[in-house]
Amino acid sequence: MSETVLITGCNRGLGLEFAYQYARDGWCVHACARDLVRAEELLALEARFPDQVQLHTLDINKDGQIKALDRVLGNETIDVLINNAGYYGPKGVGFGNVERALWRQVLETNTLSPLMLTQALFPRIATSRLKTVAFLSSKVGSIGDNRSGGGYYYRSSKTALNQVVKSLSIDLEGAGVKVVALHPGWVQTDMGGNNALITAEESVTALRNLLQQLDLQHSGSFLNHDGSTIDW
Ligand code: NDP
Repeated sequence: MSETVLITGCNRGLGLEFAYQYARDGWCVHACARDLVRAEELLALEARFPDQVQLHTLDINKDGQIKALDRVLGNETIDVLINNAGYYGPKGVGFGNVERALWRQVLETNTLSPLMLTQALFPRIATSRLKTVAFLSSKVGSIGDNRSGGGYYYRSSKTALNQVVKSLSIDLEGAGVKVVALHPGWVQTDMGGNNALITAEESVTALRNLLQQLDLQHSGSFLNHDGSTIDW
């Protein structure tokens, strides 16, 4: 039987590329996006791999949709959960014009929701063969790497996510579940922009390689796409 992956934020960017590569390689793919009607490329992927790709409506910030997804999955196990969906927030915000409501929105998406989804799906992951949970973090969430300041919303949300990953890795060790924070590189997507250094294909190929080689020893690490460890 083929392995199963569930990915959030699959309508564009890295999420779409993850869904494509896993489907191409014969995996069963649960691809989630918050607006399927407008997710043309994802719908095309489903049409291309109808036996492997299943689409789900999921705004990760909506608990009702997380519950509905869990119900729809029936008794399926999830080998690999990829918490990919993320939000940078409004650009160009610096000290002096930080807004509470906007900050909350970024924290909600990048920090709170990935854990809430993982918590809801945990029994399926713990009973799977590969028992892997990946969180798309970012090097800009590294405190050790912060030399340019600013980026209050996004940086803090990914730094907090890293702490979530660390705790989760300790809490789930007994269940044999591997948990990692991944930096995908600076990638050419809507978020990364056109000047970014690598393509989504290059990034996802590298990240999938890392996930394939992951064992419990690596659980609780913050890994760059090239396999090196990043400073917390
Ligand atoms: P994009 O901005 O291109 O795509 C973001 C994806 O997240 C979209 O599918 C978006 O859906 C989805 N999303 C946002 N909010 C929600 C939500 N509430 N519920 C469900 N889906 C949501 O980003 P990338 O593909 O570049 O980034 C993927 C991940 O990698 C993110 O976590 C990001 O922080 C991280 N990352 C990216 C880097 C880069 O250089 N690109 C660098 C470092 C980290 P919608 O279209 O509906 O908004």
